[in-house]
Amino acid sequence: MTNPTTYYEPIIGLEIHAELMTNSKMFCGCKVVDSAEAPPNTAVCPVCLGMPGMLPVINRQAVEYALRVALALNCTIQHHNIFARKNYFYPDLPKAYQISQYELPLGVNGWLEIELEDGSSKRIGVRRVHMEEDTGKLTHLEGGGSLVDYNRSGVPLLEIVSEPDIHSGEEARAYGLKIRQILRYLGVNSGDMEKGVLRVEPNISIRPVGSTAFGTRTELKNLNSFKALAEGTAYEIARQAEILNRGGQVVQETRGWHDARRITFSQRSKEEAEDYRYFPEPDLPPLAISDEWIATVRASLPELPDAKVARYQADYGLSAYDARVLTEERAVAAWFETAVAAAPTHAAKTVANWVINNLFALMNEKKQGIEQIQVTPAGLVELIGLVENRTINHNTAKEVLAEMFATGQSAPAIVQASGLAQVSDEAAITAVIANVLAANPDSVTAYLGGKEKLLGFFIGQVMRELHGKGDPAVVNRLLSQTLAARRQA
Ligand code: ADP
Ligand code: MG
Ligand code: ZN
Repeated sequence: MTNPTTYYEPIIGLEIHAELMTNSKMFCGCKVVDSAEAPPNTAVCPVCLGMPGMLPVINRQAVEYALRVALALNCTIQHHNIFARKNYFYPDLPKAYQISQYELPLGVNGWLEIELEDGSSKRIGVRRVHMEEDTGKLTHLEGGGSLVDYNRSGVPLLEIVSEPDIHSGEEARAYGLKIRQILRYLGVNSGDMEKGVLRVEPNISIRPVGSTAFGTRTELKNLNSFKALAEGTAYEIARQAEILNRGGQVVQETRGWHDARRITFSQRSKEEAEDYRYFPEPDLPPLAISDEWIATVRASLPELPDAKVARYQADYGLSAYDARVLTEERAVAAWFETAVAAAPTHAAKTVANWVINNLFALMNEKKQGIEQIQVTPAGLVELIGLVENRTINHNTAKEVLAEMFATGQSAPAIVQASGLAQVSDEAAITAVIANVLAANPDSVTAYLGGKEKLLGFFIGQVMRELHGKGDPAVVNRLLSQTLAARRQA
């Protein structure tokens, strides 16, 4: 395919659906259950099964969760909220309408910052954030026929619609990841795309560079990962460019992403809003949201990722990259902050290095999240203390951390039990140096003849004799002194 970016500018807007992790459903008292684990159709009642004559009641916790998100995305909150019926017929929707919001959504005109791979950042507009209910889940059987599970029917759902400010698959991915990170920080959604609790659908069009009118868009569905979001979007941009390049026209439609073949395919032509015959939900009163409620929710918001990153840079002297890595997950950031609080002042950077370079490696290797690990923040600080007071050297400390990770023992206990304390005794080190030099007379001659690189070899030999426990600073100093003395002799 031709390279589209040479001639066309991609225009992308994302619709994101996020289930809210409330206790009960949006309009009834049924429990919100894990749709992958709970037996089908066990968390249902006449309301969420769409029985005639049943009346919905708004879940206050769901509205509060939605408010958190709208505020975190810098939206203006509408005081007067109207629910609307979106009518369509499909087996996953027993009422034949979905209760949603249309003309008066909860939040409008928000924005968020995304970070791009080159380290720059960019502001993306959030057009609207509105509340609705999820539909049931259909499973199409291979041999024909479908199964439906209404456990998901009526689960509170948030729709977050971006402005068409996104211009590549990579930006779409960065935006999706940032939304997910914020949802997780707010504790309203697990971000698990494979379970379908977070669904991301890009609208994609291209236009000739310099043109101001939008081209015809397609909407992509079935994206089950952020990788698929980036790839599917890039594929769609290239596909549309090829159509335009050969004089064709893009058809407005919904397309699916084929995960195995990594292509998009036509699913159905696009409905227009009028097809849904929206009208105000007669069974629900308008929802009034007071300034007091907004203020209370705003005050309860946690520190969000961007604010944390700025603070880590300003207060702890961390690089933007390190700050981002440490704040990726709220629980990791909390763990790190606890450790920094327990460490001496100015040790934040050292703590950060230990977490990023060593702890994360162990966590990845053993596939453990921060909630599962046995190493405590205070335990890591204690280990760092042993390096600073030169009880152990840095390499030994790495082994000790691995042992702490595996057994949950404290650093001093491990050092004591395994005799890992480092040797700084000058007499002992001097004796080992003498042995090493005596055992390698040719290398000594070569070194004295100008092959200074051999210093590293001698250090290695001495450290080996000391079973890796030599204090590197002392070994270095004594070895240099001994060799210098021989040169003069
Ligand atoms: P609908 O609800 O019918 O899908 P919306 O107006 O709510 O339509 O837009 C959905 C998303 O599509 C928004 O994120 C918007 O920014 C984006 N969008 C609208 N027009 C275009 C376009 N021509 N190309 C790409 N994205 C678009
Ligand atoms: Mg749409
Ligand atoms: Zn119910």
